[in-house]
Amino acid sequence: MTEEERQEQAADRADTNPDAPGPRPTPVDVYVLMTIETGLVTTADWLAERVKRPAFRAATGQGWSDDVHRQVVLLAAKDSADPRRWKFTGQRSAPEAAEWLSLRFRNSPGPFRTLAEGERQAVENVARMGAELIRRTLGEARRTEAVPHPCPLPCGGQLVVEGGDGAPPVVRC
Ligand SMILES: [Zn+2]
Repeated sequence: MTEEERQEQAADRADTNPDAPGPRPTPVDVYVLMTIETGLVTTADWLAERVKRPAFRAATGQGWSDDVHRQVVLLAAKDSADPRRWKFTGQRSAPEAAEWLSLRFRNSPGPFRTLAEGERQAVENVARMGAELIRRTLGEARRTEAVPHPCPLPCGGQLVVEGGDGAPPVVRC
């Protein structure tokens, strides 16, 4: 949501029950998610270009029909389609990029070389920046949740818990 939409929604909800059905603002700003996604995908693109082993290629179209040639062609196709390779096209999401970067960082087996120190640093940096951005965004959004039990005091009122921003949670009647 834009800042304007967020304020409109907050105003709409101000005098309704917190349990009322309907859309709620996302706890993480969509722009923050997009920033993180761009950071992760760009880093994966950059790193994959550097550390990937190019897929083996087999010469084809010469009319060769022997067994060895057929196996080599199959192997080459399998190598280039290895699901561990990073996809440079199509839809690439933040979770996919994070998972792929994490596997490279841990030196998981695949058609890649080991990361150099600077490359490890780049992965660390993008992870730290994303985490920091999420924390800051969540930190600004202290949330209120209704407690599904009535107040234990004689009033029997609705309890709500406020928290989620790192400060101690508070229960109010
Ligand atoms: Zn009470």
